[in-house]
Amino acid sequence: MQNVSCLLCGEGPIRVVASRGIVAKNGPVIPVSNVICLRCGLVFQSPRPEPEELEAMSRSYTEERHGFTSPKELQKYLSGVSWKNKGQALGAFLAEFLAPATRVLDLGCGPGVVIKYLRENFSCPVLGVEPSKVAADFARSEYGLPVYGGTLDDFLRSDGVAEFGVIILHHVFEHLPDPVASLRALRRRMTKDGVLYVEVPDVSSFSKPVDHFFDAMHLWSFTPATLRATLSRGGFKIIRWNRAKRYRIQVVAAADGDSRNEIPEEEYPTISADEIIRSLRTKRLRDKTLGVARTLVHFRSRH
Ligand SMILES: [Zn+2]
Repeated sequence: MQNVSCLLCGEGPIRVVASRGIVAKNGPVIPVSNVICLRCGLVFQSPRPEPEELEAMSRSYTEERHGFTSPKELQKYLSGVSWKNKGQALGAFLAEFLAPATRVLDLGCGPGVVIKYLRENFSCPVLGVEPSKVAADFARSEYGLPVYGGTLDDFLRSDGVAEFGVIILHHVFEHLPDPVASLRALRRRMTKDGVLYVEVPDVSSFSKPVDHFFDAMHLWSFTPATLRATLSRGGFKIIRWNRAKRYRIQVVAAADGDSRNEIPEEEYPTISADEIIRSLRTKRLRDKTLGVARTLVHFRSRH
């Protein structure tokens, strides 16, 4: 395991906020600690697995997290998920950036349903990147999508030019071991007026029980303000922010120097580390109470 310091402040005072995480749905509990930087409120895993372990984990994550290891299980999984709505919601939010010639890159595309939707509805040329072999094969054979099989780092290490007008990081950014380095590398693959779509869970507003919220592969947990600061470190500014979104932070970022206006820093609520610690504690107590209530209902229904 390696100790990690705050991405935004470096070495500084931290406090443990959670000490469990879950990879698979109903799966084994993997103990990981999440800490909070008392200066800026960024929540992150520390200690966390070594780089090689993280890389190995990320290769099997999609399959383990969603429970599909064969095309048949994947079909079953897809039938239970409203993927069309996902594509639609993303397409609606990104519509102003999608023209028929805009090349779209979806990092961690899974079975490819979002890029399938964008190709069909916006006529964009697309490329997916997906470490899960089952999901990547499915996207290629079922939907005829071009998919690079590998992790984000594999992809960024491969040769390429600045060709993408829209880069999608849908619930992927919180997994990156070195988000600032990845942002700089992504910028090199983006066209001059390209944008980055980032959606991550919001540690200051979420509906899941605390111990489910802290997924073992989520290395960083952001608030809107700490996400803004992290993107800024990597040379990006937020130009769109869907404030109506609950539990998640959904933004579009452009490279610094782009002519579009940044959302001013004052518009991001200041949430102190103490407030985050307090809300996690309150939430955990509420989760426990709910758990007891559910057990009682279950018990009564059987007796
Ligand atoms: Zn910090």
